[in-house]
Amino acid sequence: MRYKLVAGNWKMHGSLAENQALLEAIVPATRDLARVDVAVCVPFPYLQQVRDLLAGTHVMWGAQDASRHAKGAFTGEVSADMIAEFGARYVIVGHSERRTYHQESDALVGAKCQAVLGAGLTPIVCVGETLEERERGATEEVVARQLEAVVDAVGAAGLSRCVLAYEPVWAIGTGKTAAPEQAQEVHAFLRRRVAERDSAVAEGLTILYGGSVKGASARALFSMPDIDGGLIGGASLVSEEFVAICKAAQ
Ligand code: PEP
Repeated sequence: MRYKLVAGNWKMHGSLAENQALLEAIVPATRDLARVDVAVCVPFPYLQQVRDLLAGTHVMWGAQDASRHAKGAFTGEVSADMIAEFGARYVIVGHSERRTYHQESDALVGAKCQAVLGAGLTPIVCVGETLEERERGATEEVVARQLEAVVDAVGAAGLSRCVLAYEPVWAIGTGKTAAPEQAQEVHAFLRRRVAERDSAVAEGLTILYGGSVKGASARALFSMPDIDGGLIGGASLVSEEFVAICKAAQ
């Protein structure tokens, strides 16, 4: 049986004071959950603070992006090895906000996954369709294409060291959560696609749902057989909501 994972994506939010207050609320309230891993993915400048606050606790931490390059003249970029130095476990890769605002292609997302795995970290690879793509019936085609680019880059063995996150773009930050059955359909599709390459990898793969998950909607989503937890944006900044979501994953 796969463990559940609830990972917060703080996006470009936080301050030293806010982060401390948030983590001091989350850590004790999620300490005794059974079979639920908890993580927060934070802006780069806060990696050191989060490492100091979370060291020795059950809550893991990570970043929200990494360069495809190991080092060099890439001003403003941060390498996966640098992130690993802070004791991080996860790096979000291919979030729709990066695909949209930073023109990240499927091939670049694959290359970033490779770089993150090379640093010994776990990529949380995001896939998902826009509203326009869903409405014209292209959801499976889109997520399959995004998944294939990752498998082409890292192989089935690499994928076994990734977490996949299905995040319909129309549900991110909009307050519109996918219905549990609607999300399950895509999760099951993704798992079947992976199984065509390697059934053991498919069975072990953690597939998160992301898109306006709240404490009130989490339990029904997480009770679906192929939904292994959540990637949580807005609600990860509100301790009561995030804790409620973590508890719903039990
Ligand atoms: C996200 O940023 O990955 C996300 C799912 O955001 P939200 O929960 O705010 O929709």
